[in-house]
Amino acid sequence: MEAKELMEKAVRFHGHICPGLTIGVLAAKYVLEHGYEYSPNEELVAVVENDNCSVDALQVLLGTTFGKGNLVHQDYGKINYIFYDRRTKKGVRLSIKSKEFGDKKLTRDEKIQLLLNSKPEDIFNIYEIDYNPPGLAEIEESVPCEICGELIMNSRLMTYNDSEMCIPCYKKMRK
Ligand SMILES: [Zn+2]
Ligand SMILES: [Zn+2]
Repeated sequence: MEAKELMEKAVRFHGHICPGLTIGVLAAKYVLEHGYEYSPNEELVAVVENDNCSVDALQVLLGTTFGKGNLVHQDYGKINYIFYDRRTKKGVRLSIKSKEFGDKKLTRDEKIQLLLNSKPEDIFNIYEIDYNPPGLAEIEESVPCEICGELIMNSRLMTYNDSEMCIPCYKKMRK
């Protein structure tokens, strides 16, 4: 798919066009052209170091989604993207080159156009990396909170005064 088509698909999902989304589209385009495929299940994993607009492009174009657990957010506030393919056991890391992204003289639209006309190698530093993906998403039992009665995943249970409870109830108790 051409950048333009990918862009249209991403905009339909994201809601608007913006430089962040464009960066995500370009990252997705690069990996799709280098042996990675859209992921109906968890074949592909994206590890992202930001939670900005760009991540929506990855969700819709690569199938690396929050709900499936093959989108992992590391809250570093950096415009870096790592992709692992569980079938080919390959990994690639894209990190934005600061010069291209940080030009403050450009308007929003100019920035988008500039990005769309760029080669991935112009805007990202791209490296093959060792295959070291995060674990598969686990399906967990849920149990009721002893305070509010709402269901919680086992791994998120907190204990306070011999009661097992959800995190919001635990926070209230500790006040
Ligand atoms: Zn946006
Ligand atoms: Zn509760």
